[in-house]
Amino acid sequence: MSKNDELTVSVVTPAGSVYEGTTSLAICSTPEGKIGIMPNRLPLLTTLVIDEVKIQQPDGSFENIAISGGFLEFSNNELSIVAPAAERAEDIDVERAMSARDRAQKRIAEAKSNKKSVNDLERAEIALKRAINRLNISKG
Ligand code: ATP
Repeated sequence: MSKNDELTVSVVTPAGSVYEGTTSLAICSTPEGKIGIMPNRLPLLTTLVIDEVKIQQPDGSFENIAISGGFLEFSNNELSIVAPAAERAEDIDVERAMSARDRAQKRIAEAKSNKKSVNDLERAEIALKRAINRLNISKG
């Protein structure tokens, strides 16, 4: 593969670097839907939703990374993903995600029974999305 057929990817969080590599295809989820980012495309800056980022490996398989929002910037064949939290599939602690899911479900039920807790409800729904996303990605 020549250099023009690949792009570099970095996934960074406040806790540190989660992924560095090169690829010919990265699939990311934006508020408008999933986009495939390939080498030499036009520059792009967009937010990301809680979902997975899929990075194609030389053997055609994908490295899957759980992303908790953030944004991506692409230019000059460099894709930078900056997220509040991100985990490679193999680094996801499944029990922790299950506990987070159960806690979030309880908080949602409590917030729904107390109509004043709109913020609590929103926060719990987002926490539930993060937990379910981690569980889905850990399953592969
Ligand atoms: P929890 O309630 O379990 O902390 P959370 O969704 O509130 O879950 P975040 O605030 O999104 O957690 O993340 C805090 C840090 O913990 C981040 O560095 C994130 O990568 C890590 N993290 C959270 N959940 C998991 C998990 N299930 N497996 C591995 N790392 C995790």
